[in-house]
Amino acid sequence: QRARAAIADLTRSVAGFPAPGVVFKDLSPVLADAAGFAAVVEALSEGFDVDAVAGIDARGFLLGGAIAHRLGVGVIAVRKTGKLPPPVWSCTYDMEYGTATLEIPADALDLRGRRILIVDDVLATGGTMAAAARLLARAGAEVVAVAAVMELDGLDGRGEVERALATPVPIRVLVTG
Ligand code: IMP
Repeated sequence: QRARAAIADLTRSVAGFPAPGVVFKDLSPVLADAAGFAAVVEALSEGFDVDAVAGIDARGFLLGGAIAHRLGVGVIAVRKTGKLPPPVWSCTYDMEYGTATLEIPADALDLRGRRILIVDDVLATGGTMAAAARLLARAGAEVVAVAAVMELDGLDGRGEVERALATPVPIRVLVTG
């Protein structure tokens, strides 16, 4: 409830970014606010029993680190392409304009059998979250939940994430917008 109020009060909507006709939801002011950040991290952590948290580049890193700390587990960075030394697991997916690629280390981490919560700020088409889920599954991890602060209406991001996972998992979002 505190989280929802902070998101409602502090989220900035930017029309026409990153493309004409799109309204970008900027959660930066929520994360920059002490009470807002604490409430969001608490709401996204509550009740999860996992071995590690994976945060998606870049605002997912901010949330993922804090959530992992709160849950008493480690954190994994799911990175945009070109940042990690080889070998990497990589997953390329379609976006509205072109493609994007996410990567995780292939040998620096042993993720086999580890129960993972994936975190990002916004769930839009779900392509990014689905790619992260596929990557972690390929590394042998078990994705047991996904969480985002906001889900954008009318894009069926949830459906895209569900299709990427072999078995249904909880998809927690705090608000839709
Ligand atoms: P998707 O792959 O279409 O679900 O887009 C989700 C990714 O794009 C996330 O990593 C978000 O950070 C980013 N994103 C998409 N739309 C927005 C938005 O309106 N506000 C903030 N981030 C967004």
